[in-house]
Amino acid sequence: MSRVYNFSAGPAVLPEEVLKEAAAEMLDYKGTGMSVMEMSHRSKAFEEIITTAEQDLRDLMGIPDNYKVLFLQGGASQQFAMIPMNLMKNRVADYIITGQWAKKAAKEAEKYGKVNRIASSEDKTFSYIPDCSDLPVSENADYVYICENNTIYGTKFKELPNTKGKTLVADVSSCFLSEPVDVTKYGVIYGGVQKNIGPAGVVIVIIREDLITEDVLPGTPTMLTYKTHADAKSLYNTPPAYGIYICGKVFKWIKAQGGLAAMKEKNEKKAKVLYDFLDQSRLFKGTVVQKDRSLMNVPFVTGNADMDAKFVKEAKEAGLENLKGHRTVGGMRASIYNAMPYDGVVALVDFMKKFEEENL
Ligand SMILES: *Cc1c(COP(=O)(O)O)cnc(C)c1O
Repeated sequence: MSRVYNFSAGPAVLPEEVLKEAAAEMLDYKGTGMSVMEMSHRSKAFEEIITTAEQDLRDLMGIPDNYKVLFLQGGASQQFAMIPMNLMKNRVADYIITGQWAKKAAKEAEKYGKVNRIASSEDKTFSYIPDCSDLPVSENADYVYICENNTIYGTKFKELPNTKGKTLVADVSSCFLSEPVDVTKYGVIYGGVQKNIGPAGVVIVIIREDLITEDVLPGTPTMLTYKTHADAKSLYNTPPAYGIYICGKVFKWIKAQGGLAAMKEKNEKKAKVLYDFLDQSRLFKGTVVQKDRSLMNVPFVTGNADMDAKFVKEAKEAGLENLKGHRTVGGMRASIYNAMPYDGVVALVDFMKKFEEENL
């Protein structure tokens, strides 16, 4: 068996310890004589899995008691609709457009109400985060929406926008649990787990209780109403049980690593190796404004599409996989999530150095 260094943006690398534990428990989960995939979501064993997972997530993020944690399905993309359906009481929302995911979310919200795009970095292909300290927040906005870490472009909000008292909603799919977070600054934090936490099929929504109401837009399906899932503790219907089980294991793994502060330190150390190399390279260059660089997704280019393709191909042959940039931007992208070991980033940089020498 040999594992590669997998730089995929998502679904992405998971901690090897977690995969091994899951493998060991595959046929007989803790004496139940069955796999977690095969057990009732109403069973005692699963109840313990989901309760423990929620508690560990609460511990890691310091989630206050007046926030609910929901384990849902439909991916992050389903939240693009669920958020306006549940939160648009005035049918007005402000969106900050920092990439494709925020753009898609804004477009979806337009089906339900008026969307004001109060800031954007599209003028420079989303290579920076706009100044959000004094934006024209709409007086009757139900919320202000951001995509906190832009998976495709490799930017991250280092400071949250000044929402002037309005509820902040954030898509954190690609920076979930990568660093400490002050949950009280947000109304809703949500993310698909397949980037930094677990297998595709689970989306976690952390939502302040006062935002969970029966007063949703007319026609909102039961399944797309936050209250349905909050009241049923994410067990209204069959939840993505196996995915939740793996997320739970990853939460334990992060706890064992020292929690989110330790995670941040490790992530900064990893990202620095790559950014420092990019900053002095004569062949490769990063595409993002320095101060807005993501710790998780690092896009870079050579400036020559053929050279980029050659690099991706040769890197793959060297066991460094999924370095091709997003299909809409080209170039390369290294996603270096929590589970990417430091040695993986060093291996990538060593390979880049060698490639640079051979191709300059
Ligand atoms: C991947 C991603 C999405 C889309 O997630 P799906 O689960 O495929 O719907 C949305 N937002 C961000 C920031 C992402 O990285």
